[in-house]
Amino acid sequence: MIKSVKGTRDILPPSSGVWNKVEAAARRVFETYNYQEIRTPILEETRLFARGVGEETDIVSKEMYTFEDRDGSSLTLRPEATASVMRAYIEHRLDQQPGLQKLYYIGPMFRRERPQKGRYRQFFQIGAEAIGSDSPMIDAEVIEMVTAVLDAAGVSGYTLLINSVGCPACRAKFVAELRERLRDVAPKMCSDCRRRVETNPLRVLDCKVPEDQPVVDSLPSILDYLDDACRAHFESVRQYLTDRGIAFEVRPRLVRGLDYYTRTTFEIVHGALGAQNSVLGGGRYDGLAEALESKVPAPGIGFSIGEDRLVMMVEEAHPEWQSRPLDLFIAPLGDDAKRHCGIVARELRGGGLMVEVSTDHKLKRALEVANKLGARFALIVGENEITAGSYQLKNMTTGDQRQVTRAQIAEMVSTG
Ligand SMILES: [Zn+2]
Ligand SMILES: [Zn+2]
Repeated sequence: MIKSVKGTRDILPPSSGVWNKVEAAARRVFETYNYQEIRTPILEETRLFARGVGEETDIVSKEMYTFEDRDGSSLTLRPEATASVMRAYIEHRLDQQPGLQKLYYIGPMFRRERPQKGRYRQFFQIGAEAIGSDSPMIDAEVIEMVTAVLDAAGVSGYTLLINSVGCPACRAKFVAELRERLRDVAPKMCSDCRRRVETNPLRVLDCKVPEDQPVVDSLPSILDYLDDACRAHFESVRQYLTDRGIAFEVRPRLVRGLDYYTRTTFEIVHGALGAQNSVLGGGRYDGLAEALESKVPAPGIGFSIGEDRLVMMVEEAHPEWQSRPLDLFIAPLGDDAKRHCGIVARELRGGGLMVEVSTDHKLKRALEVANKLGARFALIVGENEITAGSYQLKNMTTGDQRQVTRAQIAEMVSTG
């Protein structure tokens, strides 16, 4: 038997119904903030991610699905979407469009991580990017929008964490200080930390290994190293969030795994998910366009929500999101009735009702199926009914059965 590839999965009904509802809720929220959808290819040139995500990140160094195309070029299945969105922004000169570019995306990403519960090698992200401004107003708006998406998905009990990682100027001083402080203690830390001290000391702050925590806790806070401009920016973001009644916690240890982040970073965690409790992460990436060789600066901020985990939470909180109940199950009794029912079903579906026509025309069996499918109503159609133009409509919840004309079916089912 051929099975799905390790780390990938089929999203089956009724779960797929929840996915659709979550995505529809996100789209509705994005539109109210004047975001439009962008669909970028799943395949990109490998160097886009090497530059845009960073050669030394885990994603690029060990998790990408990279292969040589038939013409010898190196292609990669996208491990995230921000680099692609920025590539599209630069390629299509979207900086010349009026106003900010506010773009959202929904789709699959690929990372060859160790598969575990709630984590997949093909996973889905819902994300958005606002490109073209470094104003803290945009940071606050993006963060507000993220909370609106969670609210629309019916998720509650989450915590918003925010931080600033400064700009290259002030961060350089902090990183130098970190390196200095880590030099003596690094040999006792985990292998990732020992490597990071050389490649990206900022990421030591992100270490989750329990034994390393006393060292991590003793390290200086990046907030003490922000220059005036970065400090003012962060203060404004906090002020705007407070103005809007959005609760947050400042976490100076919150740095992101990707190199291009500047200033505001944020994350939303949810208690119900245990150790892997991050639902989404995001931040500002004012240096990304330059990293991709754009001559036009393009400051931006964005986020991505792990949709697999979000759906898991929604399924727990709202089992009723799984499926819309079937409105009507039609059971034809006999061959003429089959033809007639096809016509009636077409009419009712045209009016927006969800209708199923039985192929199994023994009455008792048909009603059993209607019951198992959770149909709200069942319509029994035999030769007599067709001749008389009057049908038996059964309310499957109450058991109530009544005679209705063809014209009455839609109204009875819609209101019943
Ligand atoms: Zn700075
Ligand atoms: Zn460590």
